[in-house]
Amino acid sequence: MSDSLLSPSDALWSRVCQTTRQALASGALQPIETQRFEVIDGQIAFTVRLIDSLARKEKAQHSGASPSKVDNPFLPYEQDLFVANLSATHVCLLNKFNVVDHHFLIVTREYASQQEWLTPADFAALARCLQEINGLGFFNGGTAAGASQHHKHLQLIPLSDTIPMADVIHHPPFLAQCEASCQLPLPFRHGVSPLRGLWTNQADAAVGQTLHERYRALMTSLGIDPAAAQPNAPYNLLITREWMMAVRRSHPSYQGINVNSLGYAGWLLVKSTEQLEQLRQIGPLTLLTQVGLPVKPLDQL
Ligand code: AMP
Repeated sequence: MSDSLLSPSDALWSRVCQTTRQALASGALQPIETQRFEVIDGQIAFTVRLIDSLARKEKAQHSGASPSKVDNPFLPYEQDLFVANLSATHVCLLNKFNVVDHHFLIVTREYASQQEWLTPADFAALARCLQEINGLGFFNGGTAAGASQHHKHLQLIPLSDTIPMADVIHHPPFLAQCEASCQLPLPFRHGVSPLRGLWTNQADAAVGQTLHERYRALMTSLGIDPAAAQPNAPYNLLITREWMMAVRRSHPSYQGINVNSLGYAGWLLVKSTEQLEQLRQIGPLTLLTQVGLPVKPLDQL
């Protein structure tokens, strides 16, 4: 375990790549193989990844670590998955069971609960990553929002593809006319905030502070009171260099299909060809609405 902090000039990306190579070689990193499909709904081309069932069984067998690790895999974390100390408060770890290459986690160094509010320090650590790596940051706020671990963690997926939902977000005139928070023509309760001009020559702490203010405004727009001691409803949060989106959640899954923040980016995961067929029948937008909150009664969608 290293105590040294990543400096602004240190290259996080090369550390992510180097740690990935080493963790693959040691077996610490256990990527999950998938097949990709496209399902179009509401002019959005959703990417659906189908998990190879054999690979899934093998992962389940090998993930049996010691009881304390099962309880909290991030404290202590696996040394082989350690990438860097992002700040005095946050560490960067590789996601052990990654579906997408170089998926990493931004984890509090001391224990904090995933149920707590995100803080300026959480956003400053995310800003350190996004300043250097063009990616999708996200946070699954609560088990009903798709979180599987109780120790507070944001996540980041470096972008090699475009984000399907960005087609709606960037479609004129929505983002161009939006100031702090706006609604897009989507059937589930959400809010989007543009992040124009945020990333140039600003310290991580200053960017983190602005991101935190936008987050609070989006929470308010979802009916989640940021002055409360804890969030009183589950939510997903998605952050790129260009926008932040928050979505109110009601259920972790619908008809057995789990959804986390990535679903609202337009990336869904299914466990069998039957589930893929079921998803085609339901339609991705209806799925996202069923596990979120409908803006209109469901029978009028
Ligand atoms: P979430 O499911 O959104 O709470 O994200 C937690 C992530 O932690 C999952 O995507 C898991 O793949 C990942 N994970 C589980 N165990 C470990 C571990 N020992 N080290 C690093 N990542 C892990």
